[in-house]
Amino acid sequence: MKILISNDDGYLAPGLIALADALAPIADIVVVAPDSNRSGSSNSLTLDRPLSVYQASNGFYFINGTPSDCVHIALTGIMECKPDLIVSGINQGQNMGDDTLYSGTVAAATEGHLFGIPAIAFSQVDKGWSEVAAAARVARDIVERQFDALSRNFLLNVNIPNLPYEQIKPAVATRLGKRHQSEAVIKAQDPHGRDIYWIGPCGAQKDAGEGTDFHATALGHVSITPLQIDLTHNVQLQTLKQVLHDR
Ligand code: MN
Repeated sequence: MKILISNDDGYLAPGLIALADALAPIADIVVVAPDSNRSGSSNSLTLDRPLSVYQASNGFYFINGTPSDCVHIALTGIMECKPDLIVSGINQGQNMGDDTLYSGTVAAATEGHLFGIPAIAFSQVDKGWSEVAAAARVARDIVERQFDALSRNFLLNVNIPNLPYEQIKPAVATRLGKRHQSEAVIKAQDPHGRDIYWIGPCGAQKDAGEGTDFHATALGHVSITPLQIDLTHNVQLQTLKQVLHDR
């Protein structure tokens, strides 16, 4: 099995190294990751400047671009044959509910999915890298399950509680929860007296009920949400068709 690994925290991130270490014994791995932390970059591609590929002493490739750039370049410019699977992470911090829209971790997996390759995004619920080796063991367990019953290019979003391996509860299938609107920007002044703004933290959980990713991980389970990229609102599509055509 050939696996392409990327992330959004950058090629030096402990979560990426733990994931590569966990998967190397069971697969032929290639790591292509951003040169710096690109968390929150979503699915952006760099179109206004050229990109460069470098290789670190541990064999990891790194690129001065976004997670989507990395997977795009890996698939179309670096790898001689397509990987069987793309994994992203392990991210420092949860990607649940609406986070998935902003996440570079999920975006790296999505880029592979858009190329027709099955992909899995992994995140630890809490920041700080505690129990990251346990999370990497969980990631390997999930990769080894293969999910043959799912569609051939599935896109899975996995969140793992920061617990010792023995205390992590079994994986459960979940839907994305929802958050309240994000907190307001934080306004300050730079040393020259000009207004500057920091994007504030994400909002509190709104839909964190049973069946959601928030709920499962709060109980200590690994959460696995199958994602799709078609944004079409099918109910409103029918309504819009009536509005536009039934006169
Ligand atoms: Mn990140």
